[in-house]
Amino acid sequence: MMIAKEENNIFLKQSNLKQNYAISTEKLNIYYGDHHVIKDVSLNIPEKVVFAIMGPSGCGKSTMLRAFNRLLELNEKAKVKGDIKVFGKSIYKMNPIKVRRIVGMVFQHPNPFPHMSIRDNVALGLKLNKLVKSKKEINERVEWALKKAALWEEVKNKLDEPASALSGGQQQRLCIARVVAMKPKVILMDEPTSNLDPISTKKIEELIDELKREVTIVIVTHSPAQAARVSDYVAFLYLGKLIEVGSTVDMFENPKEKLTEEYLTGRMG
Ligand code: ADP
Ligand code: MG
Repeated sequence: MMIAKEENNIFLKQSNLKQNYAISTEKLNIYYGDHHVIKDVSLNIPEKVVFAIMGPSGCGKSTMLRAFNRLLELNEKAKVKGDIKVFGKSIYKMNPIKVRRIVGMVFQHPNPFPHMSIRDNVALGLKLNKLVKSKKEINERVEWALKKAALWEEVKNKLDEPASALSGGQQQRLCIARVVAMKPKVILMDEPTSNLDPISTKKIEELIDELKREVTIVIVTHSPAQAARVSDYVAFLYLGKLIEVGSTVDMFENPKEKLTEEYLTGRMG
């Protein structure tokens, strides 16, 4: 396999310690029908870091990310082989609803319920899962989550206005607040800024940096520049294979694989 050599791969070294990772995959293979999309990916994602999965469009990033919280299985054509563990436990031995509560997801297109109020967008998951009881508790959690998502100051005086009144960047932070409100341990983000302007992008990147104190963030991006800005660790995926993985600084300064170097220097799409 074209993966980084064993002596240079801190992830393989770490795995000798039998540490629990936020997420780890073992020989993960994913197919849509006969189309083999993810090929033998074994990956360890440490806790409370920003971990980027980067690679060109179509290489399987979204597919792999959706497998991490069992959203992928909502697609009947998708078939997964191998194992995925969250904090050491196979997600296939857990209730999928519970998996998705521990591992939240933010999508490429901000998807709040547009006609629902800002407050209710954040509170909905809490109510559906009966995580908080009184109205007071709900309001406290909504405020807490909006602060974590760096949106509170902009919306505190209009919590009952519809989410559609917000800009695209604000809507994406609202979606982050909605996930944060559930107190997940891991947040998956699939190209969360690809539809946003540079200023909104910067706000979200700063917010990601804050969030990692408390949660593990796995961010998918097709942009090496974004991976370099936000992540502590990075995995380079190409045509469904894990080419290289390691600390972001190391990989950008000294890529070990030729394919990684070509990608980072813009010689690959
Ligand atoms: P990326 O997020 O890196 O752009 P994707 O995971 O979206 O890549 O896609 C990887 C491959 O899987 C592509 O060849 C794509 O056409 C295929 N694919 C993605 N989603 C589906 C689907 N729902 N059904 C069938 N094939 C899919
Ligand atoms: Mg994608």
